[in-house]
Amino acid sequence: MEVTFWGVRGSIASPGPETAKYGGNTSCYEVRNDAGDLVIMDAGTGIRKLGMKLMQSLPLKCSILISHTHWDHIQGFPFFIPAFVPGNNIDMYSPKQFEKSLEGVISSQMDYSVFPVRTAELSADIKFHNIIEGPVEGIPGFEVFSQFVCHPVTSSGYRVEADGKAVFYTGDHEKYFDQYHKGIKEEDIDPEVKAQMQAIVDVQNDRVIASCKDVDLLIVDTMYMDDEYSDKIGWGHSTVEMGLELGVAANVKHLALSHHDPTKSDDRLDEILKYARKKLDDMGGKHIELSIAQEGKTIKL
Ligand SMILES: [Zn+2]
Ligand SMILES: [Zn+2]
Repeated sequence: MEVTFWGVRGSIASPGPETAKYGGNTSCYEVRNDAGDLVIMDAGTGIRKLGMKLMQSLPLKCSILISHTHWDHIQGFPFFIPAFVPGNNIDMYSPKQFEKSLEGVISSQMDYSVFPVRTAELSADIKFHNIIEGPVEGIPGFEVFSQFVCHPVTSSGYRVEADGKAVFYTGDHEKYFDQYHKGIKEEDIDPEVKAQMQAIVDVQNDRVIASCKDVDLLIVDTMYMDDEYSDKIGWGHSTVEMGLELGVAANVKHLALSHHDPTKSDDRLDEILKYARKKLDDMGGKHIELSIAQEGKTIKL
């Protein structure tokens, strides 16, 4: 199995000389098993170039796992050329977002008020599947498990397995925290209630750790640093430090920090890698390979 990174940026595409090394496209990852079956994780702007590559070998059959339908995870789909070609088969999966189905959100994104081409004009055979947490059945060549994670909408991380290897992609994920006491002063909090809430939070975090357990590659949302986090609590993204903690707790082999904040330049990400390497070693993760997710890179598992 191998994983190729087509978009590793969070929130908004960020092209320019200062992001040329790690890339400016938003979330998109290509997963291939040894037989060549294809799963795509998220359809951010990175999927445009992936689509151009896939056009060289038609007809296409693939599954697209959407973590959630925030813009940066679906914005490239209207530019995914294989979706316009008859004879291609595309199965798309996502949790339902509030009252809207996956098909409803994609159709809204391709409504005449915001885009010149409607979903009715997509000539490929496209099927939309709303999923819940648990095994995702029927994906050729792969075992897939959907693990709901902490984000302002229902959002799924995905564990994808094939050929005895496993990758977990968190999508957008903030380490679970006590939302009930957010913004309340310490002295106004009942310690008993706080302990109860913390127990619930711990269970949620343990479930995410269990789904990442022993994977060969963990692609983790680490948009912020701990010292940037205090005014971003509840925005749905983890810090680098939280990502390292998850990697150690889940005993992963390779940890790829991803969903880079658009303001983080290549130089800054290089600095973060140095800092994170030392921190990971100090946390007992010396054996874990660590990298900054980089557009265009392929990791063989
Ligand atoms: Zn995102
Ligand atoms: Zn999001």
